[in-house]
Amino acid sequence: MNKTLNRRDFIKTMSATTIGVATVASGITLTTFASTNKVPVTNEKRWGMLIDTNKLTEADIDGMVSACQKEQGWGSELYSTGNQKPGWIKKLKVKDKATGKVSNLALMCQHCEEPPCVDVCPTNASMKREDGIVLVDKHLCIGCRYCMMACPYDARSFVHETLRNQKEHMPRGKGTVESCTMCVHKVDKGEVPACVASVNSDAVIFGDLYDVSSKINQTLKTVQSAQIRADLNLNTGIRYSGI
Ligand code: SF4
Ligand code: SF4
Repeated sequence: MNKTLNRRDFIKTMSATTIGVATVASGITLTTFASTNKVPVTNEKRWGMLIDTNKLTEADIDGMVSACQKEQGWGSELYSTGNQKPGWIKKLKVKDKATGKVSNLALMCQHCEEPPCVDVCPTNASMKREDGIVLVDKHLCIGCRYCMMACPYDARSFVHETLRNQKEHMPRGKGTVESCTMCVHKVDKGEVPACVASVNSDAVIFGDLYDVSSKINQTLKTVQSAQIRADLNLNTGIRYSGI
């Protein structure tokens, strides 16, 4: 799950993924999300994260990846190799060529306000909730992988093999696309995402970007922060400081 690239490459590189046709394996029933949310989802909230790369250690990021795998059930695929392996959250090293400063980033779906993955999806499987969380409806996904090509963050994975022992809240299926859900099944119960909970410091802050009393809102008002590929004007829900 490790990648190394310099800062300029990282900022400029667009991902490209081979397109193909896939079908959901017969006999698999996939639900969208087993949400227990009793409160209507509205656009009065916008969930987001602020990741401080000066505070986040490599061990923290490894812990975030492990927590995501454990929570969502990916990472134990038996037959997928190399680029076929799912990667909902990745550890990236970004080097500033001018100063030599190396930053470690945790990179997952950026939950864009204007998500290209949603724009290109021919079946509306890629969708954005009113509160900004971007998801894939596994019932509607036909595995065309247009969304993977459109995503500038290489945030999505394609399931190449038949899976077993899946999580009840996160059914996955061969021939469909998946990515970070911002742990919507936890967020809808008032909990924080698993990766955030795994970090034993305030290096990652999760919360409602619109809530002026939230820690994330207040912190964003006082520290320098950046969006990855801000030039694309996607208004990402994931923000970084220290880069
Ligand atoms: S990061 Fe990629 S997958 Fe996530 S919302 Fe943006 S375009 Fe879609
Ligand atoms: S929010 Fe949940 S799904 Fe997304 S990277 Fe963190 S643990 Fe994984």
